[in-house]
Amino acid sequence: MRSYQVTEFGKPLELKEYENPIPKGTEVLIRIIACGVCHSDIHLTDGFFDLGNGKRITLADRGTKLPFTPGHEITGEVLSIGEDVKDISIGDKGIVFPWIGCQECNACKENNETLCEAPKYLGARLNGGYSSHIIIPHERYLVSYGKIDPAQAAPYACSGLTSYSALKKIPKTKKDEFIVLIGAGGVGTNGILLLPHIHDAKIIVVDTDPVKRENARSNGAKHCLSPEEMHENLNDFNGKIAGVIDFVGNEKTANLALSIVKKGGTFVIVGLYGGSLSISLPLIPMRSINIKGSYVGELRELKELVELINSKNVGLIKVTKQDLNTANDAMKKLRNGDVDGRIVLEP
Ligand SMILES: [Zn+2]
Ligand SMILES: [Zn+2]
Repeated sequence: MRSYQVTEFGKPLELKEYENPIPKGTEVLIRIIACGVCHSDIHLTDGFFDLGNGKRITLADRGTKLPFTPGHEITGEVLSIGEDVKDISIGDKGIVFPWIGCQECNACKENNETLCEAPKYLGARLNGGYSSHIIIPHERYLVSYGKIDPAQAAPYACSGLTSYSALKKIPKTKKDEFIVLIGAGGVGTNGILLLPHIHDAKIIVVDTDPVKRENARSNGAKHCLSPEEMHENLNDFNGKIAGVIDFVGNEKTANLALSIVKKGGTFVIVGLYGGSLSISLPLIPMRSINIKGSYVGELRELKELVELINSKNVGLIKVTKQDLNTANDAMKKLRNGDVDGRIVLEP
C-alpha cells in the first residue's frame, strides 16, 4: 500500500510503500476510495496545538509516534476481514468512523468513545487515510453511506459529524429564537446546512470575511453579519439567542459568544484555533450560561447523520477531488486558506 506519512513534525509528508496488512481477529482491511483533508491534519503534521499564552500541547507528549499516516475522513470498500468479523462482507462500502476509543474504560463502555482518556483515533494514534489502504480494528466502525457519493460522504466522518454533534448540544429551540454560528468555513457551512433539520431556531452567521458571509447567505442563512454588525444589531436579537457555536475558537470569537448568548443559553466551543479566555466569573452564574466543549461526535451520531442525509434534502458542501499524490499540495492550499469547501484525496 501507498501512504503519505508524517516522518518529522513540521515537514512535508513523505510517500512510503508497505505490504498490504493482513486483518486479524475483528480487524477489517479497507481499500480507501476517498479521504478528506481537514484543518486538524495541519495541527497533527505540525505536531502541536496552541493553548494560548505561549502554551502548547504537543502530539509527542500525547503519545503520537512517528511515522504515522494522517487523514480521518475516510470512505472505502472492504477488501479482506479477520476471522472474527461476522456482519460485513468483502465489497461492502462505507464511511469509516475514526474516533475510536480504548474499548475498556467506562466512557467507551457507554459508547462515548470521544470521552475516552486513552483514544486510538485513526489518523492520529493509528494510521489514517492519506493512503491506499487502512486497517480498522472492528467492523462496527464502517457505516454504510447509502446513496451519497463516497467522495462527498468522506468529510461527514469529521467536519459533518462535528457540526451535527455541536448542534445537538444546544437544547431544543423555538421558531422565534436564533442560533449564532461563528465562522462559515467548512465545518460552519455544514452547520448552516444541517441546522434547519435539527432546530426550529433561525440562523445568524458571523464571519469577518464578506465572501464567506455571501456563501453562507446562498446556503440559506438569513442573517449574515460581521462581528461589528452583530454587536450593533444585538438589540434586534436580545434575549433570543438560545445558542452560539464557535467554529473558530479564539479569544475574540469566544468573547463575542459570551456577550451575545441569552441568559440560560448555551455556548458550544468547537474550533481549535487557539488562545485563552479571560472571563468575569460572576457573569456565568448570574446569566446561567452553559459553556460546553464539543469534540467531533460519537458513532451513533454518525449513523443518525448519514440517515438524515439519506432521508432529507440536506444541502451538501462542495467537494474538490484530487489525486492522493497531491496530498502535500492539498495541505498547502488549506494552510493558505485557498480551499472552497473540502479537498478530498483519491488514491
Ligand atoms: Zn477533521
Ligand atoms: Zn476508552
